[in-house]
Amino acid sequence: MRDFSTQSARPDVEREDLDFDVLFVGAGPSNLAGLWRLLDSIEAHNKKPGVKKLEGLTIGLIEKGDEIGDHAFSGAVLDPQALTELCPDFMERGFPTEGEVKEEEVWLFTSDRGGFKFPVLPPFLHNHGNHIVSLSKMVRWMAAQIEAREVPGVDVMLLPGFAGINVLWADQPDGTKKVVGVQTADKGVNPDGSPKNNFEPGNNLRAKVTVFGEGPRGHLSRELEAVLGLQASASNPQAYEMGVKEIWEVPEGQVPDGFVLHSTGFPQPDGESGGSFVYKMGGNKLAVGFVVSLDTKDPFVDAHLLLQKFKKHPRIASLIQGGKMLQYGGKALAIGGWSSMPKLAFAGGMLVGDSAQMVNAARLKGIHLGMKAGLVAADTILEALVADDFSDQRLMGYSRAYMASWAGTELYKSRNFHAIVEEGLTPKAGLELGISMFTSGWVPGGTKTMHVDAHMTQTTEAYYGKKGMKLSDIDLGIKFDGKRAIQKLDDVYASGTMHDEHQPGHLKIVKGDHVCATCWDEKGAPCTIFCPAQVYEMHPDASGKVDKVAIAFSNCVHCKTCDIKCPEENVIWTPPEGGGGPKYTFC
Ligand SMILES: Cc1cc2nc3c(=O)[nH]c(=O)nc-3n(C[C@H](O)[C@H](O)[C@H](O)COP(=O)(O)OP(=O)(O)OC[C@H]3O[C@@H](n4cnc5c(N)ncnc54)[C@H](O)[C@@H]3O)c2cc1C
Ligand code: SF4
Ligand code: SF4
Repeated sequence: MRDFSTQSARPDVEREDLDFDVLFVGAGPSNLAGLWRLLDSIEAHNKKPGVKKLEGLTIGLIEKGDEIGDHAFSGAVLDPQALTELCPDFMERGFPTEGEVKEEEVWLFTSDRGGFKFPVLPPFLHNHGNHIVSLSKMVRWMAAQIEAREVPGVDVMLLPGFAGINVLWADQPDGTKKVVGVQTADKGVNPDGSPKNNFEPGNNLRAKVTVFGEGPRGHLSRELEAVLGLQASASNPQAYEMGVKEIWEVPEGQVPDGFVLHSTGFPQPDGESGGSFVYKMGGNKLAVGFVVSLDTKDPFVDAHLLLQKFKKHPRIASLIQGGKMLQYGGKALAIGGWSSMPKLAFAGGMLVGDSAQMVNAARLKGIHLGMKAGLVAADTILEALVADDFSDQRLMGYSRAYMASWAGTELYKSRNFHAIVEEGLTPKAGLELGISMFTSGWVPGGTKTMHVDAHMTQTTEAYYGKKGMKLSDIDLGIKFDGKRAIQKLDDVYASGTMHDEHQPGHLKIVKGDHVCATCWDEKGAPCTIFCPAQVYEMHPDASGKVDKVAIAFSNCVHCKTCDIKCPEENVIWTPPEGGGGPKYTFC
């Protein structure tokens, strides 16, 4: 098993134990919905006559961002189904909507100038009645609603600035392991691992049940997989896209309120899967984004570059003209869906949201599916608290209920989507998509197989016809003018990303620098291209050789792409000291 700890989790330090009944890891919409629902359920349970009361409970939530919302990043158009179940009067409670969707366009861009608008919207891209949101604002609002609650008998601790670094385990009588909480990262550690004057050891947060909602490619979820093999029951591997977006402020009246645009095609070459989105937000802001599949065959796939090219298309240029870019960000997105979902529950723990691949890639939507997971998980946790039973069997009730809910049905119907389009919108893919729309997702041959691993390890030789291609060998086809086409580092500046540079680097090269040196020679070091924040750089000597990759970890926007896409599986992303990272406010 790989070592998932970091230099900042010093083994020789005494740590304080803090006890929780329930611990949520990650303040995304999935876990916040879960925590909120759990408070409602405990309150309702305790009001019932004749039941065993739940009292003296402590529920905690940790989040690696300095504040809840700092690291929240999405498109986003929200399907409000789960939110309505959680809080039917969400609008009266000041939900921060950016507007209801009123006007929709779907385009196939055939070139940098050409394309056509679909005369009829594909059913899965119908968004009328959905809400355009900033996920960052939305989770801040959810956290504020939770903080304002007072449920007798329950203490709630929201703990931003704390990153979970290791899973805490205990042995069970039958020799298997159960989760008993998480350890948080140490703070105040020098780059060499020695303590600074302000050293604060991380704590052991012990819990009867821990809910992992870390988003895509969670660091602790990786450890869960390594110990428990949760993916074994899935028919496909986990699959990811990478998304970047810029928030623009555009002249008043230029884009109508409630406007939503999706497109496919240019600037992606044939054979690749991905697409764009443009969402009108309040205050004349516009979210302009591009997502691309990380198992595309192009080892140099660069979502940031695609976004810059995309803005050149006349339809998009007309929307942003005269505007100003305000904020930038990037994040991976779990797109495997139903056939890539790991086992959702195990002794002492549960997985929710993107950490469990709960995204409908056809609709580019995961927020409502993750929130529904939070709601269903909370219902099972209530039963577990009443029964004082946190076993695998008890917690698997969550998995059964989730799969039987509307969210399970939605994921089931889109189960073949990624496998169908993994090589782009080919005629065969078009036909299969058409069939699957009328057959609740069925296509001839049954559940399709994805080719994630084969595509991910594609070499430049296979794709570009040249071994050891370098970025400089490619015509990027764009001139960066700093206004519409923005250089990566200027965009990163607009993400507000900061880390204390005097700490151990959180991007671990696990197989050694020599692997990077060979990768540069033979594969052109793809991390220097696909990273949306230009964290990785190669500085070759006069003979063109390198001995290691230079890592400017302080620019990292925590998107997890390198952890997923490095063709040598040479990178493990670990949480830095809590608090570092992007500072999203509109994303
Ligand atoms: C470009 C893009 C566009 C998208 N568009 C849409 C859309 O229009 N509509 C839609 O419904 N969905 C959309 N999605 C998907 C949606 O954003 C996700 O499905 C959703 O955010 C998942 O929620 P989550 O709670 O599971 O995880 P996340 O929202 O990823 O939240 C996880 C949280 O956990 C924290 N965390 C992670 N690890 C740790 C740790 N070890 N310790 C402490 N904290 C930790 C993170 O900082 C983060 O705050 C989009 C995604 C992307 C990337
Ligand atoms: S980190 Fe991965 S992609 Fe980057 S140079 Fe090393 S092996 Fe290659
Ligand atoms: S270093 Fe990795 S996680 Fe950080 S921004 Fe780059 S690709 Fe994303």
